[in-house]
Amino acid sequence: MNRILTIALLFLTPWLYAQNGKANQWCGTQDGKVAWLTEYQANPKAFSRSADTLYIPVTIHLVGTSVGGGYFGMRNLLDAFCTLNQDFETANIQFYIEGAINYIPNNTYYNHNYDTGSEMMVAYNVPNTINCYISNSPGEGLCGYSAYNLGVALSKSCTQPDDHTWAHELGHYLSLPHPFYGWEGYDHDYSLPAPEQINGNLVERVDGKDCDIAGDGFCDTPPDYLNYRWNCNNVGESILTQTDPDGVKLKSDGSFIMSYSSDECSYRFSEEQQAAMQANALTDKAEFLYDQTKRFPVYSGPVIPVFPEEGDTISTFKDIPFIWEPMPEATHYIVEYSINPTFSSAVFQFATVGNSWISSSLIKNKTYYWRLRPYNAQHTCEAYSDIHTFTTGDQISSFQDEFMDGLTTLTILPNPVRSGTELNINLSAERNMDLQLQLMSVTGELITSAVWQIGQGQIIRSLTLPVLPGGIYLLRMGNATDHLVRKVLITP
Ligand SMILES: [Zn+2]
Repeated sequence: MNRILTIALLFLTPWLYAQNGKANQWCGTQDGKVAWLTEYQANPKAFSRSADTLYIPVTIHLVGTSVGGGYFGMRNLLDAFCTLNQDFETANIQFYIEGAINYIPNNTYYNHNYDTGSEMMVAYNVPNTINCYISNSPGEGLCGYSAYNLGVALSKSCTQPDDHTWAHELGHYLSLPHPFYGWEGYDHDYSLPAPEQINGNLVERVDGKDCDIAGDGFCDTPPDYLNYRWNCNNVGESILTQTDPDGVKLKSDGSFIMSYSSDECSYRFSEEQQAAMQANALTDKAEFLYDQTKRFPVYSGPVIPVFPEEGDTISTFKDIPFIWEPMPEATHYIVEYSINPTFSSAVFQFATVGNSWISSSLIKNKTYYWRLRPYNAQHTCEAYSDIHTFTTGDQISSFQDEFMDGLTTLTILPNPVRSGTELNINLSAERNMDLQLQLMSVTGELITSAVWQIGQGQIIRSLTLPVLPGGIYLLRMGNATDHLVRKVLITP
């Protein structure tokens, strides 16, 4: 397109260019008005509505390149999921992250179209959950789309913390059409009155006549004919005035998440939209409602580090365990550490289940800053914790830094080891000896002990661990003349 034509288009269609970066990124949903909604709107009172919050499972699929790059980041994901649940709070619907996040490295799906997207969903969908796929592009110029009873696709760029695209597509998945239903792809001269019908669908009027069948079929979403991204004015309405089939002037309401108003304007579903989504979940998706457990927001207090302790200098830098006191209601954590106290660069970030994490990517003789972001399947709004520090040393392994008379080699595996399993001890002895083993807590409490009579040479034996809370434990090994202590990390 040449420059003059571009400028001419800008003047002719200024409304096309919303002020945010998603001006030309629209919704690619192709479902129209789903059959379920037509049946529902014929007699909404026949459908039940729950007074209790409905909890709906969502499976999150993050799509990256074939070499495993380009994945949507965990921090953005938690922020976006937080916004999603806030958008659905008044609808008495809350989503929870079901199972582990599924990573899909596949160039074809990273930038997909509707057909390859459907193929991806058929391949990876988890039944009875809403499957959401976040990739680089779900189709050229698209922020996302919903395929009814198949899945939802979203672009990374439209799933930022303050965006409502995710809520918009889940609105579709729970049966809602656009408030401008019928106008999708329709080319209209907005200086003229709207026609009576478009493609056999009645156009909604300002006076509300036939509002239960015209447009989106909801009477509390007033007429809206804008089928492109638009920005609202300072009272949340469209800048463009439209004219209904009776010649009555109107401006579109930008507050609706299902409209094409920009993310700065939209924030809500209407009451009738909320009731339809509730009824849709209770009937068409009844089998999704298998776990109605309410989870509470995670605790927002300070982190209590167990290892490394605050300000510690540790002798090693490889395979450093991070262990902290569990935070109430948190089941998962993002662990971030950096050599920069503002975390503005070189941030290493991991998502972990439970209150420990082992890092193998630290550098020797560095001071590190680390913090946590706790979350659970329903609550992902919690901010990062306070920051803790420690300094690494130059030794390779924390489990190899002292030795004892009479032994020439010693390996303790696996380390970390799971509670209730066996710890394998592989050693070479210079002579026959009675070797005493004592497993202790860090405060010195004896947990289990054994005495092994071993001969000269290499031996491998197992120490059976009792069921223990996760954390650092000390294994003391001694003979008649010497002893050593090794740290053992036991995971729950
Ligand atoms: Zn849409």
